[in-house]
Formats: sequence, structure tokens, C-alpha cells
Amino acid sequence: MTTNPIAGVYPVELQAPDIEPYRAGNTGIEFVSTFDSGKPGPHVLLNALTHGNEICGAIVLDTLLRAGLRPAAGRLTFSFNNHRAYARFDAARPDASRFVDEDFNRVWVEQRLDGKEDNAELRRARELRPLIDAVDMVLDIHSMGTYSLPLMICNGLEKERLFTRAIDYPGHIMCGSGHVVGKRMIEYTPFNDPTNHKVAVLVECGQHWAAATGRAAMDTACKFLLASGAVNPASLSPFLSDQARTAKRAEMWDVTDGVTARSANFHFAQPFVGMEVIPRQGTEIAKDDGEPVVTPYDNCLLMMPSYKQGVGNRKLRFCKRVG
Ligand SMILES: [Zn+2]
Repeated sequence: MTTNPIAGVYPVELQAPDIEPYRAGNTGIEFVSTFDSGKPGPHVLLNALTHGNEICGAIVLDTLLRAGLRPAAGRLTFSFNNHRAYARFDAARPDASRFVDEDFNRVWVEQRLDGKEDNAELRRARELRPLIDAVDMVLDIHSMGTYSLPLMICNGLEKERLFTRAIDYPGHIMCGSGHVVGKRMIEYTPFNDPTNHKVAVLVECGQHWAAATGRAAMDTACKFLLASGAVNPASLSPFLSDQARTAKRAEMWDVTDGVTARSANFHFAQPFVGMEVIPRQGTEIAKDDGEPVVTPYDNCLLMMPSYKQGVGNRKLRFCKRVG
């Protein structure tokens, strides 16, 4: 159980799977398994555990690997990214296993990957880099600190807007970064390049350990695989919920601004969980050391509020509806 100022205590409703059986894999990279259909098609990658405390992706990969899911076209690869951080996962302290030395989702900068600096996450990124350079489509499965609705994140390039429209799940597609330091895997140069076809998208499936988050992770993985064309719909049918089958079209939003704490004294005006739409421009949504933080336009969506205190922490993102 972990405490949070807005929700008190988040129970750990998901069961963290044993991923040790996947250590050897079949690629020469630990915790990476790949399957080739022998037919032309994209190389598709499902990523779990970019953050070691976000266990929903590991459950998806474990379930699909156990079931023996195979591609019908191209190649399908499963990767447990920060397995070293996950090895420290403890349901009694579920927040403590996010990374070993630094956030694995901030190291995707060529100068750092090519440099001499050494830590657990850079080593793992260097191990995975040949794979990441080779794949065509990536789904990076994450979860969040609050009971927010699930959301898909991409950089907002045209190729990504088309692909996320095809995935059409979960209910919100958020385009743009509002990002602070370093680069996430989906921002790694080969993906964030309008001149090629490679697409990497990230899904935030809900609160880290909520049962519904596991459901959203599996449904999104199925919808992603369907959109990729690499897996037969019939093979995915047992894993897709009725809720996902009958969901209405996803909404697309542009991330326009990121709010970073200028002080350690940052407080939201209400216990926002994320995805609230604030009707009026200029509505005060927080105070940063006494200074009001206000919405920049009408019908502004508040994405992923963070209750971690500290100067320089990203507190939330503002988003505007597309179309
Ligand atoms: Zn994450």
C-alpha cells in the first residue's frame, strides 16, 4: 500500500507476475523474445516495465507469451525493459521499484547512449538499442499515479496520428510532449522523424495497481496488434474485452503546455485525478508558492497531475481538443 495526498491509499489489486522464465528469451538480449511469421510484414514490439513499478504491461506480456500468441505477418517481439528495477518490486512498497539509477524513459538521447557514462538504465538501453533501431511499430505500456482515465501518448507526427486513429483505444489520444528533461523512448530520434514510417506510442493504462488498469493494458495491446496487421483478429479475440469491442471512437487532443513546479510549495486547487476538462480560460487550478496557475484556454483538459513535490517536477499538462 502507498499513500497519496488525494486518494489516501492505493491497494495493489494486480498480481506482479514472475518473469524469470523469460530471462533467456531467444534473441541474445535478456528478457526479449521474438517470433517470426516467415511472411512479409512489420516488426512489432510490445514493451513492458519501462518503469519497474508499472506492472500491468508485464501481466499482458506474460499472458500473451503463456498463450503462445504468434504473428501471422512480419515479426512480433516482447520486451521486459527495466527488469532490474522490476526485480525489486514489493507489493508492500510498490512505488520503490520505478528504476535502479535513473528513469529508463529519459535516456533515449544519442549523445548519452553513445557516451561513456554508465548506469543500470543506460546499460539496458544500449542492450536494447539494436532492437529498437530495427522495429517498425512499438507499444510501450505504462501506468499512472492517480485513478485517471487511460490515455495514449504520441509525439503528434502525422504518421502517429494516423496510426493511433487506427488503434482507436483507449478513449483519449494525446499528441505532444509537454516534456521536461531527456527523451522518452517514443521520442528517440528514429521514431520522432517525419520522413520514415516507424511509429512508437505509449499508453498510460490507469492507476499503477488497479484491476481496471490490467484490463485497459490488455485491451490496448490487442487493439495495437490489430492495427499493426501482424496478428490475426481471431488470435486476439480471447483477450479483448466487450468494453473495448464496443467502445466509442477515441478523442484526439493536443498537449499544448507542461506545468513545472517552480517551488516545493505547489498545491492543486482540487484533488484532480487527470482528464478533467475545465470550461473557462483563466480558472485557477493550482498555486505555486502562492502564485496562481490558471488554465490557458477554454475547455482545457488537465492531463496526468502529479502529487510529487519538488522544484522542477512536472505537475501536469494542458491539452486542447483536436477538431
Ligand atoms: Zn511509466
